This record gives sequence, C-alpha cells and structure tokens, in this order.
Amino acid sequence: MLMEKERQELVDYGNRMFADGLVTLTSGNISVYDPETGYMAITPSGIPYAETRPEDIVIMTLDGKIIDGARKPSSENQLHAAVYRVRGDARAVVHTHSTYATVLGIAGQNVEAVHFLLPNVMGRADVPLLPYVTYGTKELADEVREAMKETPAVLLQNHGMVAAGSSLADAYTRASAIETTAELQWRAECIGKPRLLTEEEAEETYRSYSTMYGQKDRKK
Ligand SMILES: [Zn+2]
Repeated sequence: MLMEKERQELVDYGNRMFADGLVTLTSGNISVYDPETGYMAITPSGIPYAETRPEDIVIMTLDGKIIDGARKPSSENQLHAAVYRVRGDARAVVHTHSTYATVLGIAGQNVEAVHFLLPNVMGRADVPLLPYVTYGTKELADEVREAMKETPAVLLQNHGMVAAGSSLADAYTRASAIETTAELQWRAECIGKPRLLTEEEAEETYRSYSTMYGQKDRKK
C-alpha cells in the first residue's frame, strides 16, 4: 500500500486528536507530505476518526489528482496543499476546530503570548486571525497560503485553526499548545486584562526553547 507508514500515522494521530478534544465528530483533518514524490496523504471526508482505516486515507498530488484511495479526500485538501506550496519546511498540517482557539477567532482575537508556551511553539508572539471565508473553498486556501508565508499557524475566523510542522508530531504539538494557550487567554480575560509577554520576552523564550529545552543539550 502506497505511503503505508504515513497512512497509519494519520489514523493514530486522528484518534489522538479526538481523544485530546481538539476535534469533535468528523471535524478537522490532517495530512502529511512527501516532497520526493510530491504526494500528500490526507484524511478522508466525513468518516469518524475511530472508524478510519489506513486504506481510507487518500493519496493525492498538490494539484488535486488522486493517486490512490477509494475515498473522497477531506474537503480542505486545497488548504493543506496551499500550506505545502508556501512553506518549504512543512511536512504535516493539522486543522482543528478546537474550542478555545475557535472562540478567540469568533471574538476577533489573535492567540497572544499570554504564556511562554506560545512563542516556544510559534517562533513568534501570536497566532494571527484571518477573516472569515467559506470552508473548503479555493478562496480560503489562497488566504491561508498568503498568510502562512509569515507564520506556521493561523486562526480562521468563525471556523478553527491550521498548524503546519516539520513532522506530524511537530504540527500536532503546535496545534495542541495553541489550544492550551487560547484557553489560558480566555480564562484570564474572564477575570481581567491578561498581561502579554513583551516582544523581547517572547523572543528570549523561543531562542532558549530552540537550544535548551528537552534533551537537546544533554552531555553525551
Ligand atoms: Zn474546518
């Protein structure tokens, strides 16, 4: 089966996304991209995550040609392709309707650096909000493509969030951290005006995250 490993990875992450509450019902969609073949593997349209099997994953080109798979691809396949076209580093895209990120978008807010987690995963101090465009359209894909020249993730007004990554794990971590930060921002706004990290504080946090956090500098 073509892209067998990637298909299984998409099934596993789809289930995880559902279990973690980043999506409900059949909303959201995820993909991975192989620049060598130019093929994108993407979740199918309208099949519950728990029922999705590796053979339900659709393999297609960025131009929309289906290479393998009997299912219809996600309705946002043009949006996923747009991200791979504009971000040479992207190997995976996670699109969710996660509650708090979506709530902030509905209220016309960006996700801001209310916690150092956000600049850590974004390499910048916010997740910008794009104006509302109908889901599944080329117009939405074009809007995302333009915006994601400058950012690895965006909010879609009255819709949800899109995060790219260098791997599916990377895109998933970004999507999850954005949702956590959006919840903190919303909760802080309920009791007052949140203090945001300054530009300098945000820069310092993502600089130290890229060099110091985790096991990167462990002595061999
Ligand atoms: Zn959507």
